[in-house]
Amino acid sequence: MKKIAELVRAAGVVGAGGAGFPTHVKLEARADIYIVNGAECEPMLKTDQQLVRKYPHQLVKGLAAAMEATGAREGIIALKAKYRESITALESFLQRNMKIGILPDIYPAGDEALTIWLTTGRRVPPGGIPLNIGVVVNNVQTMLNIAAAIEEKPVTVRTLTVTGAVKNPKTVTVPVGTSLAEVLALAGGALSSDLVFIQGGPMMGKLVNDLSEPVSKTTGGFIALPKDHPLIKAKGKSLESVLRIAKTVCEQCCFCTDLCPRHLIGHELSPHLIIRAVSYNRLGDPKVLTSALTCSECGVCEAYACPVGISPMRVNIALKAELRAKGVKYEGVISEENIMAKHRLLPSSRLVAKLGIKPWYAEAPLEDDTYDPEEVNIPLKQHTGAAAVPVVFTGDKVSQGQLIGEIPEGALGARVHASINGIVQKVSLHSIQIRKGGGHE
Ligand code: SF4
Ligand code: SF4
Repeated sequence: MKKIAELVRAAGVVGAGGAGFPTHVKLEARADIYIVNGAECEPMLKTDQQLVRKYPHQLVKGLAAAMEATGAREGIIALKAKYRESITALESFLQRNMKIGILPDIYPAGDEALTIWLTTGRRVPPGGIPLNIGVVVNNVQTMLNIAAAIEEKPVTVRTLTVTGAVKNPKTVTVPVGTSLAEVLALAGGALSSDLVFIQGGPMMGKLVNDLSEPVSKTTGGFIALPKDHPLIKAKGKSLESVLRIAKTVCEQCCFCTDLCPRHLIGHELSPHLIIRAVSYNRLGDPKVLTSALTCSECGVCEAYACPVGISPMRVNIALKAELRAKGVKYEGVISEENIMAKHRLLPSSRLVAKLGIKPWYAEAPLEDDTYDPEEVNIPLKQHTGAAAVPVVFTGDKVSQGQLIGEIPEGALGARVHASINGIVQKVSLHSIQIRKGGGHE
């Protein structure tokens, strides 16, 4: 019988909750604890909590397989206490070496360093990965995809919440490669014509420039908001303006550092010191600047902490790009966690109020059926590592689940599969377009 990691590699499973790290690589490691991250802490998104409720058996099956592959002795499914129905649905399926890790309703409970700390007490070192402390973390959809991979079913669909200023907020399942415009239509369309769209959650999501962009294995959500909403304005600010504001108005109040989740668990990262260094021509300890590499980009400093509208997060993102281009790595140790850490975590309700998203804070019920598009445009790079190499040609007839993109020889990457039955219309270095039925157009 094939190894679990091999089946997962064959199925093209990637981390569905983040940058799409190929899951088979994680499964080849040895770990003590395997955590399913079901925190779903981004306000407005309602995907994972509903999937846990609907597929508890599959989730446990995926976790059991992941534990077997890595030798983990304990499995933890991390869920917020408020996901009561999901917890109830899961309880009777848990195996003897599994438990539910109850999380408070705080942001960012789903940042894996925080999830691990809150459920095990272990702390990921700054610049490190969970495996450094014997832990592997995957999100709910990744775990369901592992369960499907064991049955030799590749990843061909993505479930995501479509919400905000749309007619019928809902959580839909669509073939990978479906356009965002169609996803918007599934929620009844936009409520007005002056909207801007976010792919992902309101805190960490990115602005969408083009609604013809496809849904990928990592698309976390789709949110419509008015173009003059403060959240949209903040995301649209240029780096020049972010830096100018940081230099001119920072009052060194330290609120950003006091509330930074990474700082709270003992990382060196102190956003107020980074802003100070950037404002004074980078004078001082160079390590202050390199600690930007350990920023999780959670956005607490920008969206909640800073009283004068500075974005230490954006400054960190710019510094990261600069430091990575120079090959700089962060080297630091973890300190004691802040004694106030658990009291300074940001309640989700306070964040929602501060973000001004309450008017769009709706239920988004999970649809039973999978959407059936006429055409898909499947990206060849939906993951960390090298883009997949096409193994089909224009005019080929393909069936759902068929391999269409292979991992390049010796590279880190993930396989890509056809998400619908149809004919390949176009093959490029970036994507493969498939249209339902037969014949070219
Ligand atoms: S919270 Fe804002 S004003 Fe205060 S130190 Fe941080 S960046 Fe400066
Ligand atoms: S985005 Fe801000 S609050 Fe979040 S980890 Fe980075 S510096 Fe800390």
